[in-house]
Amino acid sequence: MTVTSTPERSSARTPGPGRSRWGDRLVGYPADRAAVYRQAGEWTDRPLARRLQDTVDRFPDRPAVVTDVASMTYAELGTRTDRIAAGLLDLGLVPGDPVLFQTGNRIETVLVWYGCVKAGLVPVATLAAHRAHEIGHISRAVGAVGHVVEAGLGFDLVEFARQQAQGHPTLRSILTVGAVGGEDGTHPVETLGADTPPAEARARVESVQSGIDPLDVCAFQLSGGTTGVPKVIPRLHVEYWDNALLYARRLGWTEETRVAHLIPIIHNAGISCGLHAAHSVGACLVLATADVSKAFPLMARERATDVLIGHGHYQAVAGPEFDEPSAFLRNVILSGAKPGRELFDRAGGRTRWVGQLFGMSEGMFTVSPRNAPEESRLTTVGTPIASRDEIRILEPGSEVEVADGEVGELSCRGPYTIPGYFDAREHNRAAFTTDGFYRTGDLAKVVLVDGERHVSVEGRIKDLINRGGEKINAEEIEQLLVTHPRVRNAAVVAMPDPRLGERTCAYLVTADGEPVSMASVRAHLEELGVAKFKWPERLEHVPELPQTNVGKIDKKRLRADVVAKLERTDQ
Ligand code: AMP
Repeated sequence: MTVTSTPERSSARTPGPGRSRWGDRLVGYPADRAAVYRQAGEWTDRPLARRLQDTVDRFPDRPAVVTDVASMTYAELGTRTDRIAAGLLDLGLVPGDPVLFQTGNRIETVLVWYGCVKAGLVPVATLAAHRAHEIGHISRAVGAVGHVVEAGLGFDLVEFARQQAQGHPTLRSILTVGAVGGEDGTHPVETLGADTPPAEARARVESVQSGIDPLDVCAFQLSGGTTGVPKVIPRLHVEYWDNALLYARRLGWTEETRVAHLIPIIHNAGISCGLHAAHSVGACLVLATADVSKAFPLMARERATDVLIGHGHYQAVAGPEFDEPSAFLRNVILSGAKPGRELFDRAGGRTRWVGQLFGMSEGMFTVSPRNAPEESRLTTVGTPIASRDEIRILEPGSEVEVADGEVGELSCRGPYTIPGYFDAREHNRAAFTTDGFYRTGDLAKVVLVDGERHVSVEGRIKDLINRGGEKINAEEIEQLLVTHPRVRNAAVVAMPDPRLGERTCAYLVTADGEPVSMASVRAHLEELGVAKFKWPERLEHVPELPQTNVGKIDKKRLRADVVAKLERTDQ
């Protein structure tokens, strides 16, 4: 089978149809709010690639990205990504075409991300860990045309991409990263556009950019979601770069800052808090991986000054290995779960500033203000980063605000918080209030600090498992588990885990009352093409699932049950 597209020069292409391509699947911001955001300077009518170019022009000789094996200045990054964009256009991809990403934290991911953006293509933040269940759904939901895959991983993503393209309504161009030698019918990112003269590549990028509507989608992120199917989050040119810039400004970053990033760069936190935030101010991105035995030495070697530590790395910060990068670190941002006093002090040492970030792919970021008292940086996730961000704490299931200090559902609205998921009209009705506040599914309260409203996260209502930052939708897994021939009913809950924060435990009711083995459950999920990180890591068998007095599955009881069992085995 061949999935190559016919190379053609850009002049032969018909231009993409712009925002109209998405029709009413894309929810726009109300005009009055848009006007306010523009006036506040928190929206910029300039496409993302031009924002990057502004930095390239300002800081050409400064380092833009460094990894354990590669580095680039802004000038090099600019030229290389112009050429990749030209190469993508030569493949026949047209502005507006979505491109799936399944690559890890390596410099090529950065290059092809920007290459896509410069060619007017729309990166889709899928994960290297995703399989047919996820990719099949998401690729159709967005009408993906391109697919970037990393070669040489344990699982053959190049072959996987070929299989996904077979009979697919839109997928047709496979791009590879790290492939040794050209794989049949695929296009290595490393050589894409390499023969295009830099000036020509620049001119072609500029020509694409001049046709971009700032209110159009620049990237699709994915939501952990609250119902079975993952939701697609459209991020727009007008707000996505500014979201990152606001974050960088909150933390006081400049071109001298060296930002280390360990968690997946393709996550919204990676793109916004790592890549775009660093590049919005001319800082250097020190792109590491989740493996601290490599990441911490790289941070030390590259003298990283700032790092975002996700919950999955809290233990590593507590350990002696954190001494190595500590010498150069000035700021540590903790995110994903409440840090205890001990971790907070360890992260801070005697000289560092420590704060917290609460963020979501749907938009809203709150970050500890630089000058907030230490106690509030320890106990709250700070304040929203945009002056026009609005927060309301609502009685769950209502639009009634609770008083400051009381716990309710965190809801938010603002310049970079989506006004609606992509192509999800029905779901949007429940996910947003009538006046457009996004219901986050997180429980929070407002704490007053020097008269300022800081947010304290107090839990969540949404039914998901947060496995080291990777969100697993309980309902999605339950629906898959009951397709196992021996499983009659299933309930999936989070169980505490010292390293990842949470892992998945499945309570099963079998048809014959006999236990089903973990091997059999996993083989079934593998057969369905479900990403491995979503597979249950513990099974419990019950004759019936417990119910609440309103007839819902009593997950609170199941969570308490697994906690008690884990405590017993710990003793
Ligand atoms: P994502 O869209 O994958 O970035 O996930 C966003 C979700 O992660 C939020 O809605 C929260 O449930 C959770 N989250 C993010 N930051 C924090 C934090 N600092 N504390 C607790 N939960 C968090």
